[in-house]
Amino acid sequence: MFGNTVTIIGGGLSGCSLAAQLSDQAEKPLKINIIEPRSVLGAGVAYSADDIDHRLNAPLFVHFLTPDRAEEFQNWFVDSGGLNRDPDALAADGNIYARRTEFADYVSEKMADYLQANPSNSAITHLQEKAVDILPITNGYRIVTESGSNIESDAVVLATGNRSPAAPSPFDKELEDHPAFIVSPWDLEKIRNIDENTNVLIIGAGLTMSDVVATLSRQGHNGTITAVSRNGQIPKTHAPPPEDATPRHPFDGVMEDKPPHLDGSLLEVFVNLRKRMKEDMAADGYWHWAFDELRDCVWQIWPHFSEREKRQYLRYLRPWYDSHRFRLPPQTAHILDDALERNILTYKTGHVVSALDRGKQIEVRLNIHPDSQFEDHRFDAIINCTGPVLSPAKTKNPIYQSILRRDLVKETAINIGFDVDAHCRAISKYGVPQKNLFIVGSPTVGVFGDPIGAPFIIAQIWRMAPTLLQTLSSK
Ligand SMILES: Cc1cc2nc3c(=O)[nH]c(=O)nc-3n(C[C@H](O)[C@H](O)[C@H](O)COP(=O)(O)OP(=O)(O)OC[C@H]3O[C@@H](n4cnc5c(N)ncnc54)[C@H](O)[C@@H]3O)c2cc1C
Repeated sequence: MFGNTVTIIGGGLSGCSLAAQLSDQAEKPLKINIIEPRSVLGAGVAYSADDIDHRLNAPLFVHFLTPDRAEEFQNWFVDSGGLNRDPDALAADGNIYARRTEFADYVSEKMADYLQANPSNSAITHLQEKAVDILPITNGYRIVTESGSNIESDAVVLATGNRSPAAPSPFDKELEDHPAFIVSPWDLEKIRNIDENTNVLIIGAGLTMSDVVATLSRQGHNGTITAVSRNGQIPKTHAPPPEDATPRHPFDGVMEDKPPHLDGSLLEVFVNLRKRMKEDMAADGYWHWAFDELRDCVWQIWPHFSEREKRQYLRYLRPWYDSHRFRLPPQTAHILDDALERNILTYKTGHVVSALDRGKQIEVRLNIHPDSQFEDHRFDAIINCTGPVLSPAKTKNPIYQSILRRDLVKETAINIGFDVDAHCRAISKYGVPQKNLFIVGSPTVGVFGDPIGAPFIIAQIWRMAPTLLQTLSSK
């Protein structure tokens, strides 16, 4: 009835890469709708942060739109005068860590080209709307948008990316709307409004914390910044690039079969990993080599772990994994070191026990690990950097509520992200893969373990796109 229509909900990197890969690979023209409320395609949450100190957390060559044009962003940046716009992008290790908005500019430019012309002559349309509901109809779905439009489609792909952060306990009760509490670290306006002489608490100590410290530091922050995390793990830095070898392209690493030493139970995999990391370091190498080998094939390893192992990982190993996996760009590492040296920034290992409204301030009791020492402090601003909500049922995104309410998909058994099959087809509440409803990117984290960074999402799309095209052409 509709021909070959596919509607992608979300026009961040995932949605754009999918549209590009489909239109590259389709044997006949498709009609591809991208529903994305932002005015530009490609920025999403990650690359829309217009702070000059928010940089890509990995070198340029790790970021691309489609696997066959993996070098293009690097060339685009250099050829378009990226190093004149931002000489500091070139780090001492010889790699370029561009501002995140540069990648958004590149992707949106490429998408504009795709909308004009593409190999399959597919019609790609950006519908600047927010999807709020999705209803099954004969041979497809009807998507309802916030403005009341109805879009009928043979297949639908959810590429809605990072779920918004939510207030952690104890702030989730009365203090969520307190003026001193900032629930989303992506709300840059609120962070920019923090007075330079105030005392700030950051809850969480991952890369988002580093972005916040970068913004505050540039604003000349003079008050204290305390970053508290339960495990005390701070993001690590990158290894220098090898001197004598051309680095393998990240896409190739992600597509390779897992090596045999990464077979086995969760415990065996981590024991082997730690052993290899130590061996590399003992031979004057870097722990990054063994770690990256594991990271690249997490999508092959994670699905084989039992539910119990996955829960054990989340409880005991995830902070360690994340601090090694999500690394600081050298420029941001330098900003953190500087703030530490100037005694503006302090890291604490512990957790917030209670929080009380004290007018313009919030008084917080911290339980400092490992001795359970209590500390009471008053803060003028508290920024939640604990990460996005993991359970889709707990997010406020109406499209998540819709597909759950209509039983089109269920949460994973570990309540992280949606359940999908190996081809990213949504699995209904009754355990049946939906033949024409797909989910890509971070909402599939519970199934694939680490479909978070650019190369991993793009590889995931590369693997699932043939199934989606097959579904369309079989109609
Ligand atoms: C702050 C931050 C920085 C990051 N930095 C890097 C980095 O440097 N390098 C790297 O490789 N990875 C980085 N990542 C990981 C990042 O998740 C991926 O690289 C990638 O950008 C994810 O793209 P996405 O399209 O899946 O998600 P998003 O970028 O979150 O985009 C999802 C889009 O879906 C839209 N959407 C959501 N709900 C609806 C709806 N109901 N209707 C219509 N549209 C909707 C949103 O408006 C949004 O534009 C970062 C992530 C974050 C959060």
